[in-house]
Amino acid sequence: MDRIAELHAAAVAVQQNAHAPYSHYKVGAAILTSTGKIFAGCNVENAAYPQGACAEANAIGAMVSAGELKIAAVLTVCDGDVLGTCCGGCRQRIREFAELDVPIYASDRNGVRATFTLEELLPYSFGPDHLH
Ligand code: ZN
Repeated sequence: MDRIAELHAAAVAVQQNAHAPYSHYKVGAAILTSTGKIFAGCNVENAAYPQGACAEANAIGAMVSAGELKIAAVLTVCDGDVLGTCCGGCRQRIREFAELDVPIYASDRNGVRATFTLEELLPYSFGPDHLH
């Protein structure tokens, strides 16, 4: 199984655990790190809506909690006819830990539907390099 297939399998698996009783929009995200590890997260909504967290944010939290700081690839899975890509906030969250050429795969349960670089999704971005 190639790494993209592994990411897809991890994201599909975690999507099933998404807590989305309000939007009914379940998302799974999987991150491949520069050391070859995979971390996954799902969206976790809250009755106090702004307290909810995106799948990508939770995957990043799992990655950082494990001591990993370098993203090599991101894959998201969601349902529906409209292509689902990372929200603006998550594009910035990914920017903290990824180079601009890192691939971001937008998928559904059947497979990858579109591939972007971080720079395509977040052009002219602000990142850690601005603060050094
Ligand atoms: Zn998001």
